[in-house]
Amino acid sequence: MKNLYIHIPFCRSKCDYCAFYSETGCTEELKHAYIKRIGDELHKYDCSQIETVYIGGGTPTLLTVEQLEKLFDILHDRIAFNQLKECSIESNPETLDADKIALLHDCGVSRLSMGVQSFSENHRRTLGRRTSQTAIENALEITAANPFKHFNIDLIYGIPFQTPEDFRADLKRVKEAGCDHFSAYNLTIEEQTALAGEAIELDEDIACMMYEAAGSAFPFKRYEISNYALNDEAQCRHNKNVWSGETLLGIGAAASSFDGIDRWTQQYDIEAFLNGDEPEYDIIDAELRRMEIFAVNLRTVRGWQRAEWEKKFPFSWNLMLQKVENIAKLYDDCFVIERDVIRLNDKGLQFWNEIASELL
Ligand code: SF4
Repeated sequence: MKNLYIHIPFCRSKCDYCAFYSETGCTEELKHAYIKRIGDELHKYDCSQIETVYIGGGTPTLLTVEQLEKLFDILHDRIAFNQLKECSIESNPETLDADKIALLHDCGVSRLSMGVQSFSENHRRTLGRRTSQTAIENALEITAANPFKHFNIDLIYGIPFQTPEDFRADLKRVKEAGCDHFSAYNLTIEEQTALAGEAIELDEDIACMMYEAAGSAFPFKRYEISNYALNDEAQCRHNKNVWSGETLLGIGAAASSFDGIDRWTQQYDIEAFLNGDEPEYDIIDAELRRMEIFAVNLRTVRGWQRAEWEKKFPFSWNLMLQKVENIAKLYDDCFVIERDVIRLNDKGLQFWNEIASELL
């Protein structure tokens, strides 16, 4: 496996829009047991080929300094960090302090991702995001004083009552914060979230204006539907690898793995992970898997280059060209199709969901 994802499913409180698997109110004892279990699980695998590590959640930085230290001891024991191309960790502002930041540096984290979502207290309140303005300012200050090689801020746009001007102000704050990367996700109302129970209407036209604003947030450049970087080096290597169908080992509750053929996902249940319960397997035929991999990487601005595709699936480029040419007839002015390149343009990226359904 070339990429490792560790899921830390603990949060201080549940945000109203969030569909990621996480639990609140967990005891320190449970967190210790969870970290230990990660170590046991990791020992089952050959980690010598791991190139990227991504610690996500949940809120990984809700772990104490001691717990984070333990987690990184486990990772260092199994993985040669000096050969890693990237080690990312997700964080929430209210869980960061100078000690934790120092520890993350010492442990070899090269990329800090901070979930801000909005710099406006009002919009965060609409999202049910319980982070104070002071916590954000403090976290940005500590991070600026102890910069990581790469620094990402997550934003959400299309929040009810958020104007394009409000979102542009967020983009400005991102630039001022010294990030080399930001992610901007269009708010969607996911089933079984608190927002799903509210009568909320999303305005697609305004969201579209915000998508365009993100795309022109110079000097950042969009490289995937929701991801923007200052340069190639600042792009998230782990995510790029996963989108392009590289192998992934996912450890932890709700974590997904892919061995190049099959996918499997651990149960959305901490106890099940602790008990070593069987994951759920997603076994589909090779043709469908190939289409799935093709579709996912079309989310990137770069799309597919013939040489990269044929390295994974020899002699199948012309077949993909034919398929895409047929779909392109239904989606006017959305594709860039050349002899050795298939990609979506800016307009096409906005229709990715529909185009992916056609492919699958
Ligand atoms: S958005 Fe992040 S912090 Fe909020 S509940 Fe979901 S995982 Fe936890």
